Amino acid sequence: MEYEQIRQYLPHFVYELMKSGATPATINSFRGRWNTLPPGASELPCPLCYATGRQGLLQPAGNDSTAIVRCARCRKEFVVGRH
Ligand SMILES: [Zn+2]
Repeated sequence: MEYEQIRQYLPHFVYELMKSGATPATINSFRGRWNTLPPGASELPCPLCYATGRQGLLQPAGNDSTAIVRCARCRKEFVVGRH
């Protein structure tokens, strides 16, 4: 999985934020942060860390059958798709 692909999963991360009880203001802030990431950025912020004021970076994980993005800081795994 490429970082450019991960960027397409914003709706999934927003959903995870909603599930975690993040406020609408936090979610909007995260969405704004995400949308200002420069093209080709490899420093993609973890939504759950972002919501708690920390900085975790997302990394591609998973395998051929399941697309997973993992936070290097809180170790949260986001299953974003299956092939
Ligand atoms: Zn995290």
